[in-house]
Amino acid sequence: MKNSYLDGQYRLMAPGPVPVSESVRQALALPMIHHRTPEFEAIFQRVLKNLKPVFATEQPVMILPTTGSGGMEAAIVNVFSPGDHILAIVSGKFGERWAEMARVYGLKVHELKVKNGSAVEPAEVAALLKSHPEIKGVMTQACETSTATWHPIQELAAIVKAKSDCLFLVDGITAVGCAPLPMDDWGLDVLVAGSQKAFTLPTGLSFVALSKKSWAFNQTARCPRYYLDLLAEKKANEKGQTNFSSSVSLIRGLDVFLKEALGCGLVGIQKRCAQLAEATRQAAQDLKLCVFSQSPSPSVTAIALPPTLDGDKLRVHIEKQYNVTVMGGQDELKGKILRIGHMGAISNRDQLATIEALGRSLIDFKFALTEEDVRRAVENCAKFLESKA
Ligand SMILES: *Cc1c(COP(=O)(O)O)cnc(C)c1O
Repeated sequence: MKNSYLDGQYRLMAPGPVPVSESVRQALALPMIHHRTPEFEAIFQRVLKNLKPVFATEQPVMILPTTGSGGMEAAIVNVFSPGDHILAIVSGKFGERWAEMARVYGLKVHELKVKNGSAVEPAEVAALLKSHPEIKGVMTQACETSTATWHPIQELAAIVKAKSDCLFLVDGITAVGCAPLPMDDWGLDVLVAGSQKAFTLPTGLSFVALSKKSWAFNQTARCPRYYLDLLAEKKANEKGQTNFSSSVSLIRGLDVFLKEALGCGLVGIQKRCAQLAEATRQAAQDLKLCVFSQSPSPSVTAIALPPTLDGDKLRVHIEKQYNVTVMGGQDELKGKILRIGHMGAISNRDQLATIEALGRSLIDFKFALTEEDVRRAVENCAKFLESKA
């Protein structure tokens, strides 16, 4: 194909980990300093302050040296006690994981299973809370990354808020930063984010904030906790320190990311995710494929594959042949979807190369598509992104 965007360069287009910007990588590469130094403490104070507008909260946002799952576990153990009843909205892999963690800590988990690719129906949650008044918490993903599905968080928050003895816990790991999710305004009680998704950093940090209501629950929460004790973390943070050794390099990277993100008022990143998502949905259509989710996310798009295509083989081919990493599906969705991420330092060229690699791979796999179709899909994508620049 003439004017190919496939220049041999490696492209990471997964929904986490994501490509890290040059400025953040430079911060990560700086010589090591000790965490108990005025230099680091100044950075740490600034980062704690700058995280608040990203979560849109007045409450402290805590940084844990764990992957996102550590933040999810911290959320549970700091507000609940063994035997507490909770409602877990399970719409995919990450919903399953959170429900499983709650069971490990002895919670009584009521699961609301949602069909893969569908958003949860708020009325069903309201009905379950009515028929089970013993429920003390509702947990959901904002975006269920395994199916690239966005849930109606504001509506759910309004339902849970009306129940004074119940918390609303949100896994916002592929949501915080990608779309508005104002914690205080909407009344989210626990909000979790992770470094390798919208925060455009390597894997290794999670971020957790608790509402006033959650801190009140914290006083009587009896789940065992030591490393993930958020009250101890908060007290250390108030003295300008972390409870354990600080992840100096990652926090320095975070400092650069937050300065840049706040510099563009956060909307820059949100708009970029939404535009890449829209461009990808359009490209799927141009390549004669369908978007999998009924409620597509701005942070990741899942493309449904026809049964005649083996998605796992196609995914590997895209990587081996064209040097582009996208993700496949897991469990029931194994081989049936491809997931393309929209978070991180993704250039227009990266996006166009990905669409081209997908289109060419489809042709390589004898899918009914012409070179001309692929050229048009890439051209449409380029025009769309240019019009938004
Ligand atoms: C990535 C992700 C997680 C956390 O995964 P880790 O591998 O522990 O970082 C949790 N929830 C969602 C929705 C995710 O996308």
